[in-house]
Amino acid sequence: MEERAGAGTVTPARRGHISIAIAGGGLKATSVLRLLSDIDNLSVVAVYDTTRSAPALRLADDMGIFTTTELSELSQIAGLDLILDLSEESSIRDSLETERLSGVAVVTGSGAELVWDLLIAKKRSEEQEKIFVELQVAYDKIRSHERRLQSSKEALEKANEELEGRLAEIFFTHEFFKALTTFSSIDDVASLIVDGANGILGAEISAVYLFSQDDWTLRLCSSQGRPEDSFRAIIPVSETIIGTAFRDGFVQQNDVDPNSELAAWFLRPEEIRSQAAIPLRSGDSVIGVLMVASATYRDLTNAERDRLQVIANQSSLALQNALLHGELQRLSVTDRLTDLYNHGYIHQRLDEEMERCLRFEHQMSLIMLDIDDFKKFNDRYGHPRGDTVLQAVSSIIRENLREIDVAARYGGEEFVILLPETDIVGAFSVAERIRAGTEKYPHVLDEKGESVPQTVSLGVANYPANASTAAALVEAADQAMYQAKRAGKNQVVVAT
Ligand code: GH3
Ligand code: MG
Ligand code: MG
Repeated sequence: MEERAGAGTVTPARRGHISIAIAGGGLKATSVLRLLSDIDNLSVVAVYDTTRSAPALRLADDMGIFTTTELSELSQIAGLDLILDLSEESSIRDSLETERLSGVAVVTGSGAELVWDLLIAKKRSEEQEKIFVELQVAYDKIRSHERRLQSSKEALEKANEELEGRLAEIFFTHEFFKALTTFSSIDDVASLIVDGANGILGAEISAVYLFSQDDWTLRLCSSQGRPEDSFRAIIPVSETIIGTAFRDGFVQQNDVDPNSELAAWFLRPEEIRSQAAIPLRSGDSVIGVLMVASATYRDLTNAERDRLQVIANQSSLALQNALLHGELQRLSVTDRLTDLYNHGYIHQRLDEEMERCLRFEHQMSLIMLDIDDFKKFNDRYGHPRGDTVLQAVSSIIRENLREIDVAARYGGEEFVILLPETDIVGAFSVAERIRAGTEKYPHVLDEKGESVPQTVSLGVANYPANASTAAALVEAADQAMYQAKRAGKNQVVVAT
């Protein structure tokens, strides 16, 4: 405390300042001494008790406050305003009553109790306030920790999610590439590619179009994301974004104009908002186009573009293999000139069909066809023109067959047609249609459009009616065909 008052010293009173002396040196007095020391405009200037060793006196000594065991000494303190009696001793109270100092108020008994209660209440509310503030600070700290935790938890979850997505993608990509190398048919590879575009890139809609050299179009081979009939089946290379990719390379549009012709590969182009098309290459030539699209805005990131490129590259390789595989298979069983099956293949099929006939008690028929006077034709018009006749007859045969029938070029200008589950009447009518079709077909000879008719002779035989083995069936049909020749050509003869 600021004032050091001693016996005999005079401390001038300050305006609005209250000087207090405490009477009593017990624990209550000690507490009050402490509490009052925190209050402005108020100072304890002396503590009095009859016992020198009383705790309040010792504390006052420590605080530099005047202490005394003689009540009379209080009278010497200048400017003392009030004596607060906390002594709980009747002797002190009594002497305070009797030795009243002039101008000094004495608060004792219930008055002193009141002061005590007020001080304690003040102390409590201060402590509560302090605790409240501390709580507030602690709460704020906890909140901010919680927020930090939450945001790092969210970041962690997001990273985790991304990682899981990436892992799934890597796994899918791996499986995709592995599968690509094992698939050998074009259809299988194409459908794998659209699945890959979906799995690796998350493409909502994807399609593979393959180039058809015959008519310079791109033909739908496989699609995903929408029913197949939502896609245009055949697209000329000059049209839509698919044609553009075919001609110029990778194209991307992330905000497609609803009226744009570029989206017309889709039959409801107004439903396409974003699209990208990437060519599938084999060496220097483009063999097809991979299309990805979505009904919502989507801007491919660089990473996604790279991924699309990787899918396209790997897919191109697999497609190339499949094309090659298909071509080789086709070449090994087909005749190059007519594209019908060859001699070897028809014998294999004939044996298989005969087995089936035996097992299921089916019947089948066989037509043997030979072009009439073909040697003369060749001699007169040349071998190349003869070849076009062979091709024309092959087309006529093909047009008159069902899916399950098998036609082959048996030798030079001889053809065999296998008709499973067909009786002799049905076979005769097929043969007759081919005969009539050939007869009326204009075999164009030159640029002026001059044409000559060509005819064919056909023999028809049936299993089990005319033969009991595959070889005998061929022989019977051949015999019937020779009968047709002998009978004047350009006719169908049924084996007997
Ligand atoms: P027929 O009416 O009795 O069958 O008389 P043909 O002249 O058709 O019969 P022949 O067996 O005497 O002659 C078959 C001819 O078919 C001989 C050959 O010049 C021709 N030929 C066979 N293979 C080909 C081919 O690949 N291209 C062409 N242009 N001609 C072929
Ligand atoms: Mg002939
Ligand atoms: Mg012949």
